[in-house]
Amino acid sequence: MKKLELHWQILIGMILGLLFGFAMTYIEWGRGFVQDWINPFGTIFVKLLKLIAIPLILASLVKGISDLKDISKFRNIGLRTIAIYICTTIIAITIGLVLVNILEPGEGISEETITKLTETYASDSGVTSKLEAASRQKQVGPLQFLEDMVPDNAFGALSDNSLMLQVIFFTIFLGISMLLIGEKRSKPLKKFFDSLNDVVLKMVDLIMLTAPVAVFALLANVVVSSGDPDLLLALLKYAGVVVLGLFLMIVFYSIVVATYTKKNPFWFLKEISPAQLLAFSTSSSAATLPVTMERVEEHIGVDKEVSSFVLPVGATINMDGTSLYQGVAAVFIAQALDFHLTLGGQLTIVLTALLASIGSAAVPGAGMVMLVIVLESIGFPSDKLAIGLALIFAVDRPLDMCRTIINVTGDATVAMVVAKSVGKLGKPHIEDWDEFYEEVK
Ligand code: ASP
Repeated sequence: MKKLELHWQILIGMILGLLFGFAMTYIEWGRGFVQDWINPFGTIFVKLLKLIAIPLILASLVKGISDLKDISKFRNIGLRTIAIYICTTIIAITIGLVLVNILEPGEGISEETITKLTETYASDSGVTSKLEAASRQKQVGPLQFLEDMVPDNAFGALSDNSLMLQVIFFTIFLGISMLLIGEKRSKPLKKFFDSLNDVVLKMVDLIMLTAPVAVFALLANVVVSSGDPDLLLALLKYAGVVVLGLFLMIVFYSIVVATYTKKNPFWFLKEISPAQLLAFSTSSSAATLPVTMERVEEHIGVDKEVSSFVLPVGATINMDGTSLYQGVAAVFIAQALDFHLTLGGQLTIVLTALLASIGSAAVPGAGMVMLVIVLESIGFPSDKLAIGLALIFAVDRPLDMCRTIINVTGDATVAMVVAKSVGKLGKPHIEDWDEFYEEVK
């Protein structure tokens, strides 16, 4: 019997997880049961993905750079990647702003709902922790991000998942230095990293075998942890605008794939779908990164020389979904709380949401922290920030799940575009987990 394709298996796991989660909310001990006995399997899965992220970036980027054999090619890829990332993010914010200004989801929201949301969430630890994180972020100088990119201890950087840019910096430095000592002398190190890269990609295959069960656990937990359904309904129009914007981004990526890379966009979306489904289930582009890399390289055919740089950098700095959401959320809050936004204010949102999405960590809920900075940039009164966040908090998790899909899809699209532009978009070469199993079993 033909085995069900991975994305279908994951989708079935997700649907069953949602249904199971809903069922459990009707049982008195249901929530506790899901949190204590089901959720740990989801958490273990996310931990396994994070476990291999740094070794994968290290091995694959060293391999990518040393395969290039030419530093100017790397500079070429680097500059194109950053330029295209900035363009796609600006397009995303613009789509968000146009939609929120036309559809005005904040205008219809009643005083009563605002009061209820404020009472429920303004002093909730979820909101206050975001405000605190944002104020820590604000205290840094303008070039701090450059300073933060350079590690002072390579092993320190390699041992902390939140220091992905430092790992990328160190690895690029290592790869370029390997090129500079010549092929013969760098050969042993190159062989080591090539082999490490193959091993880690195999680990991705093995971890993905458990994905259908893991997403069941993750989604069941999301459902039992979500807030009051009435409040979710009150925010339906706002959430609808964000989701519509995110959907338009998928249309935009599909057009780019079809016109520039001349590939079928449905094929692209199908091949990338396991990564998208995981992005949705984990709300973290960083946790999804190993799967995104595996899908883009093996299933789409982007050469490692491109994907090993474009994807890890994208996971940390390119967040089209997050920036679109920040634009919509900022204007929605302004509309709901009668804060007058000028055209200049809207343009400021474009700029700060661009910077905020670069600065957002690739973890659940990070976009909301940086939203505070976007709000402050347009002069939103600081004593009302907690109320502003309280307004959107109830739907933040589901929207986070959706925007993370776009963050990951955007990275994959740009990887294809950059690969095509430098002649590195080849044929897919899929390797199953059990390719060599017969030899060792
Ligand atoms: N969860 C998002 C990501 O990991 C970031 C965010 O928008 O909160 O890409």
